[in-house]
Amino acid sequence: MERLQKILANAGVASRRKCEELITAGKVTVNGEIVKELGVKADPAVDVIKVAGKPIKQESKIYIMFNKPKGVITSVSDDKGRSVVTDYLKEIKERLYPVGRLDYDTEGLLLLTNDGDLAHKLMHPSHHVAKTYHATVERVPHGNALEKLQRGIKLEDGMTAPADVEYHDIDPDGKFATISITIREGRNRQVRRMFDAIHHPVIRLKRISFGGLFLNNLQRGKHRKLSAEELRKLH
Ligand code: URA
Repeated sequence: MERLQKILANAGVASRRKCEELITAGKVTVNGEIVKELGVKADPAVDVIKVAGKPIKQESKIYIMFNKPKGVITSVSDDKGRSVVTDYLKEIKERLYPVGRLDYDTEGLLLLTNDGDLAHKLMHPSHHVAKTYHATVERVPHGNALEKLQRGIKLEDGMTAPADVEYHDIDPDGKFATISITIREGRNRQVRRMFDAIHHPVIRLKRISFGGLFLNNLQRGKHRKLSAEELRKLH
């Protein structure tokens, strides 16, 4: 449910201020009833909303899961002509925005949507959205090195919050290991910096989960719409 003036403004009727005036002037109906008070909420997906007798145009909301390849910028355009995520989503006509970002060299789960409210909520630090990565690192970190990441480790921008960390795969020759790490913050290059701090630089980084959603077998460079069930998890 959203405030009527916000629904009208989002639908491009007029500015929010002007939409408030339309409401108080008695020009707006919800399911056939005139609504004159400000603050009334409606559900744009269900309710029939009209201004001066004409139904408003509503942009449908779209939610996409994308498996970002490495070497692609999390942006909708790049002035140097480099590959950007929306290059892979050309057939989607709605204007999409990435929910947070993955580094150029990081691959994996990236959500994109035109739902600014949800994107904002998921990116806000107070929501502590869990993000799980498979980090392949040089050599095999000892348990006590991983415990430091679990407890929180000092980076130049302060201590990290506790992370969940476990071994995912270990090279029999001990040259590398893949660690599953879940963080609930989103600082710049955070996972890479956390492993740098324990002297096990990241060789490959892939996000496999975000906010309870999983990449599973979505192929690299491919995307799909979220299911209703997945969308409920994010709200
Ligand atoms: N942490 C990183 O270091 N890079 C990312 O892209 C995401 C999290």
